[in-house]
Parts: sequence; structure tokens; C-alpha cells
Amino acid sequence: MKLSAQHWVRPEISALQAYHVAEASGFIKLDAMENPFPLPPELQAELGQRLARVAINRYPDPAGGNLKVRLKAAFAIPAAADVLLGNGSDEIITLITQLLARPGAKVLALEPSFVMYRMNAVLSGMDYIGVPLNADFSLNLSATLAAIALHQPAVVFIAYPNNPTGNRYPRAAVEAIIAAAPGLVVVDEAYQAFADDSLMDLAGTVENLLLLRTLSKVGLAGIRLGYAAGHPSWMAELDKVRPPYNINVLTQETAHFALDHLGLFDEQANLLRAERQRLAAAVQALPAVTVFASEANFISCRVSGAAAVFDALKARKILIKKLDGAHPLLQDCLRLTVGSPAENSALLAALHDILS
Ligand code: PMP
Repeated sequence: MKLSAQHWVRPEISALQAYHVAEASGFIKLDAMENPFPLPPELQAELGQRLARVAINRYPDPAGGNLKVRLKAAFAIPAAADVLLGNGSDEIITLITQLLARPGAKVLALEPSFVMYRMNAVLSGMDYIGVPLNADFSLNLSATLAAIALHQPAVVFIAYPNNPTGNRYPRAAVEAIIAAAPGLVVVDEAYQAFADDSLMDLAGTVENLLLLRTLSKVGLAGIRLGYAAGHPSWMAELDKVRPPYNINVLTQETAHFALDHLGLFDEQANLLRAERQRLAAAVQALPAVTVFASEANFISCRVSGAAAVFDALKARKILIKKLDGAHPLLQDCLRLTVGSPAENSALLAALHDILS
């Protein structure tokens, strides 16, 4: 007798919602922290030629060795650290939970934060402990240290700066967590290009620290490349979980191309930082809106009737992220990805129209 999928699927997975991605064609797309700038035509042509020469009949370099060497040089990864590449930093989060998923092992993360920390804990059968941030999204260090002491997590995830709130915690607080944690601490610097600090200088020397980065937010979300840097003792174990050939040849070649043109992506990040300040100031000036400080390429804000504001923007073909409903601390919150100057101006005009 055949039994249904429901019968066989693990109940904790049946209970999950698949990661939701909104339909965005025809919209000004300010929902997913993408870089808004397409490649200039001359670089499109150069990339096309380079990709055409790639040996797509061959498997990729199995661990992306040459690319790792270049990433180390480009992003100031200490010589003492080893690097591992992932199909997006998402894949590396999955590898970490797979590595540590012995029965009863725990994942601890701050809340609200990137939903994939919890999702991967559940997928790999680990217990999940969420420690709430304060109401202003600052880190509750004493509660976090108490939870670490009580639960002895195998891994702690800290997004630095945090998604979806945008703020960066004090460096000393994160260092206190790394010092107190009995297991691995993953400092997820997905938004590092827009932030004023990084813990990368500690990678490779602080044994239980793993730095996570991605090229997604700086203009390469489509190629899916993330990287981890950490102490060789942890990285050697993590590499055992990595599927062979996880970074395809087109991604590797495009990453080399991007490293050859890093100046362009740096310029764009600087422009987006300036636009973030413009957007934040203008949104803060709207009636009854509170903007939260951000060191990322998005700003989060609170406005009463956030769900209606979201819908009204959608009706004007502008897609943002509704945070309201995702976590109790996110009541009436919205997240606005910083777009191109023209997109940001269109968003501001629409918000003005809707709120006044
Ligand atoms: N970490 C954080 C904090 C994120 O916000 C995201 C993307 N939203 C990721 C990791 C995953 O990024 P990617 O898989 O594109 O590298």
C-alpha cells in the first residue's frame, strides 16, 4: 500500500513554511537587499566573452582553490584563517548545522534575525533557542550570556549587522559572546560592505569564531557565492560536509571577473551608503514613522498600519518587505532595501503620498 507524503515527511518539516519569495516582475524591487545596478554594457560584453571560454564540459575546481586565494587577498582575510566557499552563504549555514547535528545539540540565535538560522536548525534536527533582542533591537547581552550558560549551544549565530533590523551590535558585546560560548560562534557579515566594523581580523586566531560573508549584497546575488573564514581546526571539519564541486564553473569565473573589477562594486557600495542616509532622513521626516539605525543596504522602520502601507506601495508597483507579523518585536515594521537614486526617490514620493 502506498502512503502519502505526509506520512513519510518528518513532522517538523511538514510544520514549516517554505522560504517565501514574492513575485516581483514589473515592480520596483526593494525587498531583497540586492544591488540595484546592472553591469555596464562594456563589462557585460567582457563577462560574456570570459564565460564563453569556460570549460563547461569539465567539473569545477573541487574546492575553488584559486578563487579562495584571491578572496583572501581582496577581503583582508588573515593568513591564519582557512576559507571555504558556499553556494551562497545560505549553503554554509546548512553545512554548519549538518556538521553539528548530533541528537540534543542546540542552535542559539538572537531574534529577530535571519530566518534561515532557525530553519536550518529544524532541517538538521537540532534544537533551536531564540534569545530576544531588546525592544529597540539592541543586544540583551546579559540574557544572551545567561542563555549560552544554560543551553551550552553547539553554535551561536550572530548577524553583524543584523537582518532584518539593520543595526550592528557593539563589537565588545560580540567578543564577550565568543569568549563565553562553549561551541562555535558564527558572525554573519552578509552586510559588511555597508558596515563600519568587521570581526574578520580575528578569523583564524580565535578558535571558535567563524566569519560568514557573501557576494550577494554587493552586486552578485545571481551567482550564489558565499564564503566562510575561520580557524583551520573548524574549517577542516566543515569541509568534510561540503558537497564536492559545490561552486559551479560559471560562478567561479564570474567571481574572478568581479575581483578584477572590485573598484566598481566598492563605488556602488559607497553610493548605496550615501543613499541609505538620504532615504533614512527622508523616511524619518514622514508623519509618525520611526527609522532604526542601519549599517546595511536596507533600513527598517515602524509605522502604524504597516500592512496597509505595504499594500499601498504594492498597488503602486513598489515591492518592499513587510516585517509585521514575522516576530512580536517587529510589529508594524517594514524593511526598505536601498535602491538606485531614482528608485529611492520613487519610493519616497509614494510614501509621501500614502502617509500624508
Ligand atoms: N545572512 C544574512 C544575514 C542574510 O540576510 C542573508 C540573505 N538575506 C544571507 C545570509 C544569505 O545570503 P546568500 O545566501 O545570498 O549569500
